[in-house]
Amino acid sequence: MTKPNGSLPLIDEKAAIERVMTLMAICGKSCEEGTVVGHITSELLHAGVPKSAILVDGVNKKSPAGGEVGNLIVSLPGTVRAPRRLLMAHLDTVPLCVGSKPVRKGKEITSADPETALGGDDRSGATVVLTAILEIIRQGLSHPPLTLFWPVQEEIGLYGARYVSLPKLGNPKLCFNWDGGSAATACIGATGAYDLTIDLAGIASHAGVHPEGGVSAIGIAGLTVADLHQNGWHGLIVKGKHSGTSNIGIIGGGEATNVVTPYVKLRAEVRSHDPAFRKRLVEEFRSAFERAACSVKNDAGRAGRLRFEASLKYESFRLKESEPAVQAALGAIRAVGLDPTTRFSNGGLDANWLSARGLPTVTLGSGQQDVHTVNETLNIPDFLNGCRIGLLLATGA
Ligand SMILES: [Zn+2]
Repeated sequence: MTKPNGSLPLIDEKAAIERVMTLMAICGKSCEEGTVVGHITSELLHAGVPKSAILVDGVNKKSPAGGEVGNLIVSLPGTVRAPRRLLMAHLDTVPLCVGSKPVRKGKEITSADPETALGGDDRSGATVVLTAILEIIRQGLSHPPLTLFWPVQEEIGLYGARYVSLPKLGNPKLCFNWDGGSAATACIGATGAYDLTIDLAGIASHAGVHPEGGVSAIGIAGLTVADLHQNGWHGLIVKGKHSGTSNIGIIGGGEATNVVTPYVKLRAEVRSHDPAFRKRLVEEFRSAFERAACSVKNDAGRAGRLRFEASLKYESFRLKESEPAVQAALGAIRAVGLDPTTRFSNGGLDANWLSARGLPTVTLGSGQQDVHTVNETLNIPDFLNGCRIGLLLATGA
């Protein structure tokens, strides 16, 4: 454990806790972030951030999901000459958080409504970023040029970060994202993923009178799943020193038991930290479906057909410990008296897209626990340490 260096950043803890409780209570699932954008904007204006520094971009017009509002971006000049820093956290929550009623219970905040999640993912991160700038203004602290970035639509595909226009972020040299649990942990890499959509076309026929004239799309799907399973390509995948995961998550088709099923649609994903192995997983899936489609034939020798689509959901990344943003993050964690650890995520983060687009981004903790469930809580000591670390990284101290 490293000792604090005596200059532990001061924050108004009571105000920070009230701020996060207010933000978590605002409804704002993905694509419906308008109210939370409005709330943060009014807090910024009230604190004296000039209107001209605040931008709501049009990312919702570029996003495949649409949405009512774009990303919230604040660009501020520095009071000291230093490389620009970016602080970010996503605004949206999963739908389960809608209706959250945050209440404090000792060292935790939970939702008083047992049917909802809390929304600490990621309003706790959004509050860390907001608290950093409010404390800078309140305490009159010097700071480098700053970009504050609150992207929309993280939970449904990282769209706010994926489609943000990079020039609007002002060319930051160090980027920090708050979207995690422990304040001592810096996530410096994450896996990459492809989404797969497979349309299987068989041939319909009467299942009792002429089953031999049909080609069952369900038969093709079943053979494929068995093939992938038996050969170790479904679930946790370990092949020599390569590893990844895959999952067929959605399967649908068929309307009647007396018809040989002509059509089945499947949706699946594959993930791996290794980009080449991730492509290999896509190809293993494609060839398994092709083999199965060729092998199911009717009495006229006709086989099934398929359409196989793979789309990159997010690219993987892996930052070096020597990367300036990583060094700064680990230093800030030490400065609040914690022992830093680094980790790699098996899920996607907004940092995936920023890092893939040339902005190496470290993701830090803000006290989230059991996210995306009705048992979600916010750990107050981790949240407050997240705020202190945010203030240190914003001031470049
Ligand atoms: Zn999140």
